[in-house]
Amino acid sequence: MGEPLGFRCVGCGRTYRPWGHDYLCPDCGPVAGALDVVYDYPAFARGGIEFPRVGKSSLWRYDPLLPVGEEFAVPLRSGGTPLYALPHLAQELGLGGLWLKDDTLHPTGSCKDRGTAVTVAAARRLGRPALACASTGNAASSLAGFAAAAGVPCYIFVPKGAPSAKVAQLVAYGATVFRVDGTYDEAYTLALAACEKFGWYNRSDGQNPMVVEGNKTAAFEVAEELGWEVPDFALVSVGDGSVVAGIAKGFRELRMVGLTDGVPAVYGVQAEGAAAVAEAHARLRRGEPVLPARGEARTIADSIRVGEPRDALRAVREVAATGGGFTAVGDREIVGAVQELARRAGVFAEPSGAAPLAGLRRLLAEGTIPRGARVVLFITGSGLKDPQGGLAGLQEPPVIPPDLRAVEEALG
Ligand SMILES: [Zn+2]
Repeated sequence: MGEPLGFRCVGCGRTYRPWGHDYLCPDCGPVAGALDVVYDYPAFARGGIEFPRVGKSSLWRYDPLLPVGEEFAVPLRSGGTPLYALPHLAQELGLGGLWLKDDTLHPTGSCKDRGTAVTVAAARRLGRPALACASTGNAASSLAGFAAAAGVPCYIFVPKGAPSAKVAQLVAYGATVFRVDGTYDEAYTLALAACEKFGWYNRSDGQNPMVVEGNKTAAFEVAEELGWEVPDFALVSVGDGSVVAGIAKGFRELRMVGLTDGVPAVYGVQAEGAAAVAEAHARLRRGEPVLPARGEARTIADSIRVGEPRDALRAVREVAATGGGFTAVGDREIVGAVQELARRAGVFAEPSGAAPLAGLRRLLAEGTIPRGARVVLFITGSGLKDPQGGLAGLQEPPVIPPDLRAVEEALG
C-alpha cells in the first residue's frame, strides 16, 4: 500500500498529516477545504512504480497509489470495467479514436462503487462502526451495497425524487433510508448534521477525501488499457464534481510518477439546467473567485441534478490543470445520447451516464475537439437505474395476440 505523505487542502494548500482529519481543512471549511491525498510522487518517478496483479481484476491493483490496502476491502468487486472501442462512430464523427469506459458494470451499477470501495476500506481501517451519505441516488445505493457486504449499518439521505430503482436498491441492501422532502442539496446538509451528531462515517462527495481516491482509478484503467498512452480528450458528466476531479487527478498522478508523458484534456459535461461547476470554471478563467458555486438544479438527469456542488473547487482546479474545461448540454441532447449509446454501442446508460456523448457532439460542433482527436467517454451509471429517463420519444412496443399472422402484420 502507498502510504500517503499527507492530506492537502485544495483551498489554502496546507498539508496535514495523513488521517489527521477525516473530512475537511478546519480553516477553510466546506467546498474550499476539501482535502487531497498526496503521495511521494518524486520517489515513484525515481524508483519506478509497478501495479501488481493482486487478486481479481479490480482497483486494488493500483495499491501503490491508494491510501488503504486491499486487506481492508470488502469482497464486492470495484474497478476492472471494460473499455470499448467504437471505430464506426469514431469514423462518422471524424475522430481518430473513440472509446467508452463502461463503469455501469459495477456491483451496484455505477462508477460510485470506486469511491465507495476505498471509503469503506478506510472506515474499516479506522474502525468506524457505521456509514452514511447523502446522494442523488447512485452514491447512496453504492454505499448501501458495500456496507451490506461489510456487515455494518448504513444511513442514507436521498431527495424524495430519487428514481424508484435506486430507492429499491437501498431498501434491498437493508440501509436505513431517509427520503428527504427537499432537494439533494438539502439532503446533503441534513446528512452532514446527522453524521456529526451520531458519529457516522460520511461518504458524501466533497466531504470525504477517500472518494476521489477511488474515482481516480477509472483514469488509471483507461491509460493502462491504452498501453500508457493517454487519449487527447476525456469526457465525464459532472454533478458535485468528485468524479471529474478524480479522473483528472488520476491522469495527473500517472504523469507525475512517470508512467505517461501527458494528460488528456478532461472535459466535464453538465446539464444546462444544473451547471454550477461549469459557471465556477468560467469565473476561474476570468480571474474571479470560484466560490461560492451555486445555481439552479433542473434536469432529467437526476444523478447530476445538483445546485450546490460540494466538490466544485477541486473539480475546476483539477480540470483546469489538464487544459480541459466544461460544457453544458440540454435535456433533449442527453436523451438523444441515451438512445444513441444504446443503439450504436449496446450500452444502456442512465441520462447522466450518456451525457458525455452529448457533450462530445457539442464540443465537436464548437471546434473545441478537433477532427482526428482520440476521445474517451466515461459512462458512469446504468440505464436500469432510471429506465424511463432516456426513453422520451420512443414508442412502447405493441401487444399482439399469440398468433404468427399478428407477427406478419406487425412486420408490415
Ligand atoms: Zn485550507
